[in-house]
Amino acid sequence: MSDKFLLHELSWKDIKDLNQDTSVFILPIGSTEQHGPQNPLGTDFLIAEKIARKVAENTINVYCLPTLPIGVASHHRDFPGTLWTSPQILLYLVKDVLLSMFHHGFKKIIVCNGHGGNTSAVMQAISECNDKEEMKCLLFEWWKDEELIKSVFGVPGAVHADAVETSVIWAAEESLVQTDKFEQLTSSKEWGRKIGDLYFSSRTIQFTESGIAGPIEGISREKGLKVLEKAGTKLSNVTIELSNYV
Ligand SMILES: [Zn+2]
Repeated sequence: MSDKFLLHELSWKDIKDLNQDTSVFILPIGSTEQHGPQNPLGTDFLIAEKIARKVAENTINVYCLPTLPIGVASHHRDFPGTLWTSPQILLYLVKDVLLSMFHHGFKKIIVCNGHGGNTSAVMQAISECNDKEEMKCLLFEWWKDEELIKSVFGVPGAVHADAVETSVIWAAEESLVQTDKFEQLTSSKEWGRKIGDLYFSSRTIQFTESGIAGPIEGISREKGLKVLEKAGTKLSNVTIELSNYV
């Protein structure tokens, strides 16, 4: 058995030799969509992949599945380069990936999701697998972890291409962030539009011209590195617990 941890680099013989009860697989998933003028279109899947691969590399019994780079993002369609799929397709795709692993005898999978538009489809796929096949699938979303984000940035979570997300992608993929654009960034205060207190979904262009939503002050690569580290520790601890879970 090799010390490789990425499924696509292993052979079927390697997979056959893995312990089906204790092995945990992480499925990184994100989106290819606009993230403001300063960040790469791949921001969501690149961050999810970075966290997932680091954990798989450093945690025993943990392996990483190939990244799913396209998500539910049609609301960003007015920004060039954005790709999307429907929630129904994503649900079936994620479910089929999870069921493929189940077919090979593995029941423990964590979906590491980097994009808000994917959440409900992914959750549905997870609960259908857990209900019908008695799998043990979980969802991990670094950007929604209020305690974690607050401890580094003092805000409850990342919005979109804001200071939190820009810092984290800057930490994850330093060369892909255009720091010379930082000075001219503009953003909308929050995500979406509201009627009364209630949000209604709308195209991103209708509330932010730059594509950025949320506070943009205080971008820091150092803080981004801290978030990556804390998210990695948290995910690693969950994988260890899941590996031992019976
Ligand atoms: Zn994002």
